[in-house]
Amino acid sequence: MSWINCNEQPKVTAILQKSLMSGRVPHAYLFTGKKGVGKKKVAIQLAKSLFCTEYQGDSCDHCLNCHRIESGNHPDVFVVSPDGNSIKIDQVRELQKEFSFRAVESNRKVYIIEQAEKMTVQAANSLLKFLEEPNYQVTAILSTEHVHQILPTILSRCQVMSFQELPLTQRVQVLLQEGFFEPLVRNACQMTADLEQARELCQSDSFAQARNVVLQLSQDILDKGSYALVILQDKVVKQDNGEDGITVMLDFLLYWYRDILLFQIDRNAELVNTDMIHILEQQAMRCSRTWLLRAVELVADTVHRLNRHANAQLALERMVISLQDTEV
Ligand SMILES: [Zn+2]
Repeated sequence: MSWINCNEQPKVTAILQKSLMSGRVPHAYLFTGKKGVGKKKVAIQLAKSLFCTEYQGDSCDHCLNCHRIESGNHPDVFVVSPDGNSIKIDQVRELQKEFSFRAVESNRKVYIIEQAEKMTVQAANSLLKFLEEPNYQVTAILSTEHVHQILPTILSRCQVMSFQELPLTQRVQVLLQEGFFEPLVRNACQMTADLEQARELCQSDSFAQARNVVLQLSQDILDKGSYALVILQDKVVKQDNGEDGITVMLDFLLYWYRDILLFQIDRNAELVNTDMIHILEQQAMRCSRTWLLRAVELVADTVHRLNRHANAQLALERMVISLQDTEV
């Protein structure tokens, strides 16, 4: 992956590439931004660009250095992440010990400290001395989701690079490129703006299962069948998916009703359940606009109740009964 494929954060990568080309790379960077915005990916790309033997300021992805950095086996590139809940002073000491030797293969070393806000005060102070006395070509890349928790003394010694949250279309594109099922990707990216969280949802079996339950549920609600409540009880409450599982299911239901509304007004390009157009069409013919808006309101109200710790089973039953009692 060269910088061309690292294009989710154009501002950050433009600045980094400029520094690389001019040969003026700062001693320390602090990458800030939410989980999933590409901090680690850019840190690895920066390390590869510094070590690549083929390209100047970019990575070729086939030289030995590029390969070893990609697989986490380069002798002069170190990654430090929290050991449990914190980054401890011993971890920073170990890093310093490594850095007291000359670089194994070049005159350069890179270290990446993930979740840098988790450094204990002792670890941060120890690192500070290190940041103040760079003895040869050392590049530190600290990254954090919580920049306000970084000690000001550390902050002032780093060039801060702010990573922006990715827009919806880009998050969808990234996950589609990774090969996830499109309807799941579209639902997940609507539910959360956090790419990493969306990826975790797409990877989990229970996410796909929750969607199947909702598809069945939406049909049963319209048929005014008694299965709806049974489905809920069996698949949601008894399965003990926890409140998160129920919230995800309700989110699916919200985006399902949104899809039917979008279908009714011919905005098919915005649908999330792209594989279910024929069922959306059937339900769109049966539901009035008024009912759909009321349904969205009822589901949103149930999410609100659950957030306020209402009894899950009662809240869900109440929702289904209200949906079935409202004239379609
Ligand atoms: Zn290379």
